[in-house]
Amino acid sequence: MPFSNCYLSNFKLLLSEDARGFFKKLSTNIQETEKEIKPTYCPLTSLNIFGLCASHNVRLCGSQKQIRHLFEHFRNYHHLTPHYANELVNAIAENLDPVLTKIFPSNSKIIDPNDKIACPFHSTSSESGIRRTPCTNMITKRFLSIHLKSVHHLRVKQIKEIMKEI
Ligand SMILES: [Zn+2]
Ligand SMILES: [Zn+2]
Repeated sequence: MPFSNCYLSNFKLLLSEDARGFFKKLSTNIQETEKEIKPTYCPLTSLNIFGLCASHNVRLCGSQKQIRHLFEHFRNYHHLTPHYANELVNAIAENLDPVLTKIFPSNSKIIDPNDKIACPFHSTSSESGIRRTPCTNMITKRFLSIHLKSVHHLRVKQIKEIMKEI
């Protein structure tokens, strides 16, 4: 191939989607991964997504809202270990099929129950009638019931219901 043609095809390659993906990946190594991703919906709203099964014991997302900081969301809300939170962010960035792609091997521990978790009222509106919402506190599961009582003034029955879901 003459030099000029070769140069031209390289130039075209630079503009192709693949090449852009390649450079995007290169830059992800420098920047934080999540900055590369636009706010997106959390895929963890049901089981069988990326291999998620009931035995993984992952808390599912109830309401669908766009999430900007996916990695933090997977860590804080779903309690995924840093490894699996990262795998999931990458899968979303690469647009992998959530049904066909298995990220979470069955019989593997993918959550860290000792991590601090976001208060269940972290996105509850201030008009909800629950004291001090939305709440930005991060609490270990052990202290959650104390937090719910002392900060949000919940009754024992309400606390029990919340603890069941976590
Ligand atoms: Zn989620
Ligand atoms: Zn709280």
